[in-house]
Amino acid sequence: MADEPQGERQADCLFCKIVTREVPATVVRETETTIAFRDINPQAPIHVLVIPKAHHRDAATLATAAPQLAADVLREAGEVAAEEKMESYRMVFNTGSGAGQTVFHAHAHVLGGRGMQWPPG
Ligand code: 5GP
Ligand code: ZN
Repeated sequence: MADEPQGERQADCLFCKIVTREVPATVVRETETTIAFRDINPQAPIHVLVIPKAHHRDAATLATAAPQLAADVLREAGEVAAEEKMESYRMVFNTGSGAGQTVFHAHAHVLGGRGMQWPPG
């Protein structure tokens, strides 16, 4: 996985399949470079994932390989929050399996609609 080509569609990647619509999702926003869709297992009343359409394995790898695309994801997370009328929200990038990353295609979790505790678990 570490040596997979960054930026290229991966045949076995769930989120690449959401980009191509092979796997259906409830899309809330789409741009030329990003898609935002509702998490299938929401952890808050509002839980949206924002992904780059291009495959990068995690957020830091994305920011190194394609900084403008990383900025697109961050901006779109803010647009989702505004559309969903969230004044406060949490943006999370689980990075590595030890931190709970299960899908190795960079994604921002945008969580809100309830109070958030700190520190997170
Ligand atoms: P991670 O655990 O990698 O940070 O986040 C992956 C997220 O993708 C999880 O919150 C999980 O619920 C969500 N997820 C997994 N499979 C699907 C799916 O098929 N559709 C959607 N919409 N979300 C999914
Ligand atoms: Zn992918």
